[in-house]
Amino acid sequence: MTKKTTGLTRRGLLKKGATAAVGLLAASPVAGQAPQGPAVVTRRKFKAWISRGDGAGRTTLQEVTLRPISGRQVLVRTEATNLCYSNVGAVLGVQPATATPPPPSPLAPPGGGRRMNDMAVIQGHGGIGVVEAVGPEVRRVKAGDRVCVSGTPQCGSCYWCLRGRSDMCQFLSAIGADDLEAIADMSDGTPVYENSHIGGLSELMVTNEEWVVPIFTKAETVEVAMVCSCVSVAGLGATVSQGLATIPPAGAVAVVGCGPLGLSAVQGARIAGASKIIAIDPIRARRDVALRVGATDVLDPNVEGANLINRVRELASWPGDRLWSGGRNPGGRRPGAGADFVVEAAGMDQVKPRLEAGPDPTGIQPMQQAYQMCALGGHLITTSLVRGNITLPGNLFSIGGVTHHAGQAGGASPMRDIPRFVRMLETRQFDSKALATTVVPLAGMIDAYEQVAYRTTVTAIMTV
Ligand SMILES: [Zn+2]
Ligand SMILES: [Zn+2]
Repeated sequence: MTKKTTGLTRRGLLKKGATAAVGLLAASPVAGQAPQGPAVVTRRKFKAWISRGDGAGRTTLQEVTLRPISGRQVLVRTEATNLCYSNVGAVLGVQPATATPPPPSPLAPPGGGRRMNDMAVIQGHGGIGVVEAVGPEVRRVKAGDRVCVSGTPQCGSCYWCLRGRSDMCQFLSAIGADDLEAIADMSDGTPVYENSHIGGLSELMVTNEEWVVPIFTKAETVEVAMVCSCVSVAGLGATVSQGLATIPPAGAVAVVGCGPLGLSAVQGARIAGASKIIAIDPIRARRDVALRVGATDVLDPNVEGANLINRVRELASWPGDRLWSGGRNPGGRRPGAGADFVVEAAGMDQVKPRLEAGPDPTGIQPMQQAYQMCALGGHLITTSLVRGNITLPGNLFSIGGVTHHAGQAGGASPMRDIPRFVRMLETRQFDSKALATTVVPLAGMIDAYEQVAYRTTVTAIMTV
């Protein structure tokens, strides 16, 4: 196999890369920073939702036996996890809404020797919980710490982390089928793996220290799970982390798509001090939530049709938009007008929604519109997965003055930003309850995931 000939495999990265980092730290010892002692972990049993095979019914609740942890592994007792829409296909085994399969993420590792669907995998790529034990090399957290297990890892020492782009950390490329390590065994001896080295749909998560962020909060479980979810971190990341771009004071912001990510971006725009927040979504219930959490205006793309971009340009203009008086231009409909800051968070349908479907199930049209509703000199942050290719007016793309940021997690830097986002919850700047519209115990996971899949709820939190 190729992984033997390359010397350093991706799985090797998980072990050796961080051993090197530990070595660096060891060269300049800091009082109180010595590696923690060996973990004591018994081979205990726990319940986990395991996905295996193809098609509906592929995910079942099983009792499995934990393997000992070592190295930089962290054992977390799960408190709660968000049921992310991007995992709908893997959990429910449903087909995409169209015949074309969704493209892989550009960060996804190349195909390897084994197929994820043949493995027993605990789904879920995030969650919150309490550290029960740590491997001997772990420094970032201690037993008893409350942590966010972040869908975006942060090693702190890779090319991207060193350049302020930990949203692209090298460890994101180490989550393919060949990279995963068994953390438990089923009763018949089948090894059990975890989605993204996280596996949040379980009573226990075994992850590596790059994926954990200590959060030092006593806030209520569901609310913490929401603000620490991949979607809220991305929505707040895009709007308040300032990792990719900064919302200008009193600026006009448009948010395309009001799922939990877009609704987090709406809140982030409010927290950042935007004066105009235009929220766009086909589902009425979601537009209502947007108004409750900070949107100043809402638009239905099914009603606006081809006029949507002009409507945003009008809403983003104000009486001061007069030439020679400091304004942009009269009328507000001309190219160059629009929102100072746009967050695209619509994305493709994985299954046909049971509430109002949007105009384009591939997610391409909302992404193109998001670009065109951004003002000259403005910033666009895209966050969605879509099916197909983007088409834009060439001259707008070339010299239209829009800066597009193709970030991951909205450009959030987990160790820096997630604790700040939790503070925004504690100070009531961020409203988790408005987004966590379904809360279920472990056993109710499948029902809740169907609500997420068919968009009949904003999002769901599974508590353990
Ligand atoms: Zn996610
Ligand atoms: Zn990194």
